[in-house]
Parts: sequence; structure tokens; C-alpha cells
Amino acid sequence: MNIGQARQWARGLLDEPTDADYLLSAVLNKPRSFLFAFDDVVLSQEQELQFKDAVERRVTGEPVAYITGVKEFWSLPLYVSPATLIPRPETELLVETVLEKVNIEKASICDLGTGTGAVALAIGHEKPNWDVVGVDRITQAVMVASQNAANLAITNVDFLQSDWFSSLTGKKFDAIVTNPPYVESDSKYLAEGDVRFEPESALCAGYDGLDDIRIIIECAGTHLNHGGWLMIEHGFDQHQNVAALLRNADFVDIAAIEDLNLYQRVTIA
Ligand code: GLN
Repeated sequence: MNIGQARQWARGLLDEPTDADYLLSAVLNKPRSFLFAFDDVVLSQEQELQFKDAVERRVTGEPVAYITGVKEFWSLPLYVSPATLIPRPETELLVETVLEKVNIEKASICDLGTGTGAVALAIGHEKPNWDVVGVDRITQAVMVASQNAANLAITNVDFLQSDWFSSLTGKKFDAIVTNPPYVESDSKYLAEGDVRFEPESALCAGYDGLDDIRIIIECAGTHLNHGGWLMIEHGFDQHQNVAALLRNADFVDIAAIEDLNLYQRVTIA
């Protein structure tokens, strides 16, 4: 079968036609543009088997990123494993926010619950003079994130195992950023799509989705330099609750940051 036939076959089985191209380009180890330009190139027997296996996995609902092992974030190709949440494009808002608000030549930044390292690595990539540390409770995530730093040759970002601040005693930062779990544990959202395959511990945070954010807000103050920022990604309807928690913990300059759809997806303080 050639590339054109392979794409056509897979498109007939998949809900999302572009999934076929992501899977095929991963099997061939070529950019997607190659598929359009060379549709008469014939797949080897091994490539054909690999592609059929990938499509079958996708048909069962497995996320494309777990099949290919890659997801792009902030234009950086990141290695992902089922131990980590798949980076979401909307989380780039968190990166944009820190780049806009922190105007220090040599800032120190902490990314809590770093997963693949996406947020920490994007910041480190943009600001080579800054020191960034990304922490995660899950050892496998720390390994994935460290692998990504090595693959991308980003040297100003370190990763370590830590249950929120547990390994950061005495450390202070100019900004603490986090995309923590914030989904309500009984949310219907968890029953469909990619989230069914992602670690529950990266998604869910108690009945109101705020369990982890409460812990972070309670502990963050002692880890911020004077004038430092705490920046939290959360659900589109959680800003008011997060702001109330921040006020209770004596944070000031609390503000919502809106995404392009005008949803308040990040709160800073
Ligand atoms: N933003 C993620 C989602 O939409 C939720 C991840 C999280 O809880 N941080 O699935």
C-alpha cells in the first residue's frame, strides 16, 4: 500500500481525519507535509504493520500522543508517556503570562506538577538566563521531563521529585507556576475522549476540583520572593473560588487572565 492508500484507508476508520496523518507521519518518521507531497511512496511491510497497529489503537480511543509518543507544545516536540498528562495548547496561556509579568533579568521559576515538563521547558527555552525547576510527585513524570530537557538541549531547567513543595524546603522563587489537577472527581468530562487514558492523579482534585489548588495556595507564600507571582491554571469557571482562596491566604494583586475565547483560565496573585 502507498501513502495515499494508507491515508484513505485510515480516514475511513477514524473520526478525526488528521489523526491518520499524525500516526502515519510518526510511523514513517517524516513531517506531515511529506505525506501530501509523496502519496505514491510505498510503505514497507513493517511500516504497514506498524501503521495498522497504530490505527487500531486509535480506534479503541487511545490518544494519538500516547501512540506516537510525541506532542508539540510551544513549538517544542515533547516526548509523552501514559505516566503524564498530554500537554494542552491552552496551557500555553500560562507560559505567556509568566513571560509577560516577570520582568527580571535572572528570574528563578518553579513549575509545580510539571508532567512532561512542558511549561518549565517552554519558559526555559524562551529565557535562557532564568533558572527553572519543575517538580512532580510521580517519579516517572520526572524521568519523562528530564528526557525532554536532554532531547531539546535545554540546560537551564532542572527536574526533581517533590509532592508539591515537599522537596523545596527553604527555596524561594520569583514566580511559581502550575497547571495542577483541577477537574471535579465526578465530572462527566472524564467519561469521554483522551482523558480516559490519562492519569487520574493529573486530572482530578476532589469534589470541587480545588483540593490541590488549596494545598498550593496555602504553602506558596513562604516560597515566593518579595513581589513574586503565583500563577495557576484552572477550569473556566473556577476563578472566583481560586481568588477567594488567594485572598484568605493574604495574596494581593489578584487577577484573572483570559484566553482568546475570553475564558478566565489563569489566576495570578
Ligand atoms: N485542562 C485539562 C483538561 O482539559 C485538565 C488538566 C488539569 O486538570 N490540569 O483536560
